[in-house]
Amino acid sequence: MIATLPFIQKTFDRFNALCFEGKLPSVPIILTKAGTFLGKMEYKTRRDFFGFKISHYGFRLKISIGFDLPEDVMEDVVLHEMIHYYIAFCGIRDSSAHGNAFRRIMETVNRQYGRHVSVSHRGPQEQNLVRGENSEFKKHYICVSTFVDGNVGVTVCASNKITDINRLLPRCYKLKNMEWYVSLDSFFNRFPRSRTPKIYRITADELSERLKDAEKVWKLAVPK
Ligand SMILES: [Zn+2]
Repeated sequence: MIATLPFIQKTFDRFNALCFEGKLPSVPIILTKAGTFLGKMEYKTRRDFFGFKISHYGFRLKISIGFDLPEDVMEDVVLHEMIHYYIAFCGIRDSSAHGNAFRRIMETVNRQYGRHVSVSHRGPQEQNLVRGENSEFKKHYICVSTFVDGNVGVTVCASNKITDINRLLPRCYKLKNMEWYVSLDSFFNRFPRSRTPKIYRITADELSERLKDAEKVWKLAVPK
């Protein structure tokens, strides 16, 4: 199945009551075309004067519609993100993103409710990526270049030309920096798949809107 808002909402409500005593306030659910994660609980951190974390706020649950998954796997994705939510919301300290606290809760939930939540669903599951004749979910390798004058541009890169283009772009243009992203956004369908170092200008506003769900892959300093 592909995630739908009613399904994710229903799953959230059910697990909230079942596993978290209904303690978790509902959060905005956002379906994205991300092809690099299945689910993601996003939130902001409030810090005190000394920079110590005080609390978290602005929670929102992002679920990808870029994958076709069995229903129970989709439910486990939601449950995984809800464990992150529970830990952040209750201010539980953990040793890492999937540290001791996360694993303890995950194991309890799996045992008590016969679930199969794991810590590894974040990895892109290529085999489940939605593909089709409509190239809506085509994977784009995007280089975002910032020119020395501050303007930005993109190069949507043929997958076997990434290394070449990464090397050649700074030789052909005066660049301040380059960042690489992977995105499934159909917006990038309109750019040719570059096999040569060519940058297309785009406004910074439009770009940041389009890259919200993209995964930043790496950042390279332009050789001086
Ligand atoms: Zn996680």
